[in-house]
Amino acid sequence: MSIDPKKAFSLLQGGCSAAEIGKKLGGVSRQRIQQLLAVYPPYIQHRQTFYQEELRTIKAMAQRGLCADEIAVETGWTVSHVRYVSYKGGFPIPRKEKRRIGLTYGKWKVLKKLGYRDPKNPDSYSASSDKGSNLYYLCQCKCGIKSVVASSNLERGISLSCASCASKARRPAKK
Ligand SMILES: [Zn+2]
Repeated sequence: MSIDPKKAFSLLQGGCSAAEIGKKLGGVSRQRIQQLLAVYPPYIQHRQTFYQEELRTIKAMAQRGLCADEIAVETGWTVSHVRYVSYKGGFPIPRKEKRRIGLTYGKWKVLKKLGYRDPKNPDSYSASSDKGSNLYYLCQCKCGIKSVVASSNLERGISLSCASCASKARRPAKK
């Protein structure tokens, strides 16, 4: 069955996804639609214009000091898309985690990224995340104690200091 790329392209501009276009054109796969559009000159032109617009948006937000994660939240795009466009545009934007070093969360100061901890082997950290693994940082409390803290606990304010400072804070001040 031959598909008219012009029709597919006009559906795309009407807001249809590749899967929806395939359905409307008589049950064609999403991949087939994507392949068809990828070599259709008006689509290539459209992609380039679109890309330039995205690039401009991302650049402006990066200049405001936003990281890739924050830009993704504001634009509704995925983090990988934001990073891909910024990388292609020649100004790779770091993810938030890279900028977390040196930040303070309560009494914690983030010293170093350790990596993702293997749930089965808590002594080993790896650079990439596996199912169920959590990202950990080496942090230093204001009192000087250093400890390993989960990224999610820092983010959500669950861990704000070392255990000793936390128990001091819980105890009544006077006595
Ligand atoms: Zn402390």
